[in-house]
Amino acid sequence: MSFNSCFNCGASLSNDEIGIYKKAVNRGAVQFLCLDCLAKKLYCSREMLLEKIEHFRKSGCVLFK
Ligand SMILES: [Zn+2]
Repeated sequence: MSFNSCFNCGASLSNDEIGIYKKAVNRGAVQFLCLDCLAKKLYCSREMLLEKIEHFRKSGCVLFK
């Protein structure tokens, strides 16, 4: 049993996936989605989310260490 798994499909999550979920959906979230499920929820592509992660990492966001 893992705390950090996607609540939609059960995939295990990376720190980046948790970080982008907090950024895009809810900073105080305790359940998260993997990139594929989050992309579907936000009607955007997985690639777009990856770009956002890169962007936040470069701007020094603490969620993407
Ligand atoms: Zn998922």
